[in-house]
Parts: sequence; C-alpha cells; structure tokens
Amino acid sequence: MIRTILFDLDGTLVHYEYDDFLKAYLEGVANKVARLMNPQRFVKKLLKATEAMIKSLDEARTNKEVFWDHFAQGLEVPLEELIPLLDEFYLRDYPKIQETIGVAPHPAARNLVKQLIAKGYDVIIATNPVFPAVAIHERMRWGGIEDLPYSLVTTYENSRFCKPNIQYYAEILQELERSPHECIMVGNNTCEDLVAGDLGIKTFLVEDYLLDDGPFSREPDYRGSFEDMVDFFANEEFLRTAG
Ligand SMILES: [Mg+2]
Repeated sequence: MIRTILFDLDGTLVHYEYDDFLKAYLEGVANKVARLMNPQRFVKKLLKATEAMIKSLDEARTNKEVFWDHFAQGLEVPLEELIPLLDEFYLRDYPKIQETIGVAPHPAARNLVKQLIAKGYDVIIATNPVFPAVAIHERMRWGGIEDLPYSLVTTYENSRFCKPNIQYYAEILQELERSPHECIMVGNNTCEDLVAGDLGIKTFLVEDYLLDDGPFSREPDYRGSFEDMVDFFANEEFLRTAG
C-alpha cells in the first residue's frame, strides 16, 4: 500500500525549463557578488562546489557543509563578506527570476498536493537538495504550492546526499520510517528521479518537461503528461493496492 508520495519540484510540480532558470540564477547571483569577486570566477567556484556536493557520499556532513568547505578552498574573499550578500540575493533578487523566466502555477498542482495530504498521504518535496531552504521554498511559491503541510522538503541544510545517488532516497525512507514499497517517486528526470526505482520505490515519469539522461536512464513504472499524473493519483484504488 502506498502511504508516501515523493514529488520532484522543478519541471514536475512547478512548470518551467530548468536551463532557463539556471541561466537566470547564475547571471543574477554572479552580478550580486561582482563588487567582491570576479563573476566568472564566482560561477566557476559555485559550479565546482556544487559538483563536490552532488558527488559526496559522506554521511557525517550535510550538503551545506560539503558545499562551503569546498567553496572556501582557495577563496580570496572572506566568507563573512560573501555570505551576507548571498543571503540578500536570495531574499531580494532570486524571487524576481519567476518573472524573468515566466513561471506561473499549474492550475492543478496545488489541488493535487492538497487532496493527497487531506486523504492522509505523506507528501514530500523531493527536490535535489543543492539549494538552501529559502531558495527551494521560493520556487515552491512560484508553483503556488509553498504553504502546504509537507512531511519533508529536502534542502541542502537537512540532507547529506544528492540525486542521482540512491543514498538520497534511502535517507528519506529512513527519516520517514517507510519501506520502499510504501512510496512512489514522481519526477521529470529519467536518471535523477527514476533511480529511486533501484531501491524498489515505484516511479512515475512526468513528460511535460522531460529531461532524458541517456545511458543513465531508468525505466519508470508509470509515465505520462502532468494531466495523466493528476488523473493517476485521483484513482486511489491504485494507491491502496500497489506495492
Ligand atoms: Mg525536475
């Protein structure tokens, strides 16, 4: 029986092309720190530290710790000056990306999550925890789904692993005290999201903003458009009998 539903965020519950977001984000954040640091150098370090965080399998350190340990290496600017600028960026500039790339809530997204929670399912925002909570909650706001009682939202502060490592999903199962067969993962990336299936978690591939990871792809148990996925979850019979 399915009791827990894990939703990816970007390109799944919140509708936009991830590349558009990434471009606007990197430009915005690099501009913000330009008076302290060469923007190209900042972006290069940001991407390298993010890569280190994604690869890390160190269960003793959070993603945030891995990121900043890595970012601080060889940094010529004091972190005490850089971090307040980044905090300001997330509060004042980051929210404007919604308009820059034109994100609007999908009309059915909020109701889908609300209904599932009302029916007693645990709902988790299983977004790759490479961002601070403030940034993840902001993107949830773009999708009109921010203020709902989730069981967990994975962020770089509260997670020790990233997708596509299966340890990311194992950590969620442990946190929620769930077995794989009690869960289903819904996402748009054929590797990062569908790798949950390697643990025995059921998977649903949402194809509206499909990201195909070629040789790293897994086959989903179910697939279809966002609308198909909404219909799929309206059929509770499945949820009671699956697994
Ligand atoms: Mg996604």
